[in-house]
Amino acid sequence: MKTDRFYSKNQTEFNKLIKQFESDYDFSKYPMEHNYQFGVLKKEYRFGKCNYCNSIIDICGIQSHGRVCENCGEIIHRDYWDGSIIRFYMRDKNEQTDGSLEITLQLKKPPVDRDGEFEFDLISIPIDYYNNVQDKGVVINQLKKHNGLIIYNTETDIAESVILNKNQMNICETTTDRKYRIPENHSSVVKIWDGVEYSEFDDFPVNETITIYKDWLIKKDAKEILRRSGMSSRPEFYSGRGVKKCDLNSKHLIKIFDLIYQQLKEDAAFNFCRMLFDIDQLSATAFIRNFLALERSNWKWPTKVNKEKKINSDIELDGTEMNAFATLASKLYGGGDNEFLSFRIKNEFFVYVNKFLNKRINKSQRKASPFYTTISKAIENVYLTEYAEANNYIEIHKNFILNHL
Ligand SMILES: [Zn+2]
Repeated sequence: MKTDRFYSKNQTEFNKLIKQFESDYDFSKYPMEHNYQFGVLKKEYRFGKCNYCNSIIDICGIQSHGRVCENCGEIIHRDYWDGSIIRFYMRDKNEQTDGSLEITLQLKKPPVDRDGEFEFDLISIPIDYYNNVQDKGVVINQLKKHNGLIIYNTETDIAESVILNKNQMNICETTTDRKYRIPENHSSVVKIWDGVEYSEFDDFPVNETITIYKDWLIKKDAKEILRRSGMSSRPEFYSGRGVKKCDLNSKHLIKIFDLIYQQLKEDAAFNFCRMLFDIDQLSATAFIRNFLALERSNWKWPTKVNKEKKINSDIELDGTEMNAFATLASKLYGGGDNEFLSFRIKNEFFVYVNKFLNKRINKSQRKASPFYTTISKAIENVYLTEYAEANNYIEIHKNFILNHL
């Protein structure tokens, strides 16, 4: 689902944004929250599609049992077949689950969903599910209590023709025996905009939902910064995926850097850069863990933990060991494509930071700015020079690398 966030600086700007979007988005469905307002696209754009006749139909109940296409009359969705076993509770009048009695029935024929009623033409009560005849009697009584029509044959264990009100049933499980057919779906959901049809997974041209934030009321902590950069704020979300450009790339890093610079000021941004120098495997999980640790240490890097045990660190910022290239070379020989990709992502980021600093800080200020002198020197030394050398190296060893990446 395509969605976007908008941030307003003050109440006037917030009201202006609401006004700007209120002809296209419905805000009334969702209550105004403390610091944001959620809205959904007003125009009807989601439809059902029959896969038998390809016609666009009403989306209502598009994947409910027994749905019939209004154009060709085919049943386009079935949850139950002959032999399906359904497990349910009966609801009482207050919409609560009625006691603890769980009823399990096996269908002899699939029920037809008609005006909210389930008609079971023939039902048997599977012997396995109930211990004795007495238990079965309780089930029959329970069904009788809720329904007018039940004909039960005690000798054959078969109830013939039962009508259950669907609203009274709280279905918790449907099992279909393998020897019978599995649920079938001949329908899909499509989105239509300006006469063009999109599938559920296509890139839709407009936002289906929007959120307008009262930015001045939002705490700009690390998790919020991660969310605004387009990442998840939970490290476990990306766990085990390694270094992937779709999870974390230089665009994310640049957005995060900009947000830190605007919201938390120069010193925190400086420490963020130091942190990136230190992490050599830029998997999203490792990055988020380190980023949250940076916040916990009051935006000072290295954190206490890192100082004691230098994990993830191949590059020394403060000394003479500007050895990124050596590291890269050894990693390449060792087949370390994760490190190489991380290096490229970081390089793109540091090229941006370098330009940013040159633009932001004028020549006379540069000498006075520890942020500028330290970071730009390190970037030039480690990332720009070494990257050029690395490219050179790659050019020379192209065939070897191509075989190993
Ligand atoms: Zn049809």
